Amino acid sequence: MPLVLATDDDGGPEIFASVQGEGPSAGMPVAFMRLSRCNLACVWCDTAYTWHFEGDNRPHRESTTFERKANQVTLDEEEVAARLTTLGQKRLVITGGEPLLQAPALARLLDLLPDISVEIETNGTTKAPPALDIRIDQFNVSPKLAHSGNPADLALLPERLDAYATDPRAWFKFVIAEPTDVEEVLVLRDRYRFKPDHVFLMPEGTDSATLREREKWLAPLCVEHGFRLSDRLHIHLFGDTRGT
Ligand code: SF4
Repeated sequence: MPLVLATDDDGGPEIFASVQGEGPSAGMPVAFMRLSRCNLACVWCDTAYTWHFEGDNRPHRESTTFERKANQVTLDEEEVAARLTTLGQKRLVITGGEPLLQAPALARLLDLLPDISVEIETNGTTKAPPALDIRIDQFNVSPKLAHSGNPADLALLPERLDAYATDPRAWFKFVIAEPTDVEEVLVLRDRYRFKPDHVFLMPEGTDSATLREREKWLAPLCVEHGFRLSDRLHIHLFGDTRGT
């Protein structure tokens, strides 16, 4: 099966070059590819157009649903590889949605791009099969806390979190909306023994003012607990837009 990508504002596949906006590679020039579909449903998801399609009654704060046909584009791996190669970047960020839902096609795609380094953004509920895992240089794992609205038995899978916690390629990025959300991170850190310097706390927000306001109380919490702070550079630079 080919790859199912999200669409940009022109209806084409969401493949573009930019700087990484979040996490350990923030500021790096990269090629981005956003895949469609997700197995979770975060109420504040800023890419709901990858999963909140017509007929999906799971709650989302904007209560908008998206027409599937207009928000998905299916391309074979050769076409995606050609588009990525044209961008001329040394590093690829694969994001979503939940990109690991399309692991077999991703493995075939990366066979066509042997020289590119790869980071993948995942909600941490799925595992890359060996053919894909061998190509991943960095996992940006973003386990979803209670305020995401996902039940813990879907969002926080002990077997998966145990595996990522011991993988030196994995970095954890927690989306934080309220200071009390950090208490949940502390419980998870203790249970799974996350290395604190591999843990990022990132404010939830899709505008600069909200991010800045939340970073004011989030930064001291990072200092207190030895976590790292992640901004969302792309929001400051481009706003909450597709293809950026
Ligand atoms: S896991 Fe990510 S893509 Fe999926 S609903 Fe949550 S924020 Fe959106």
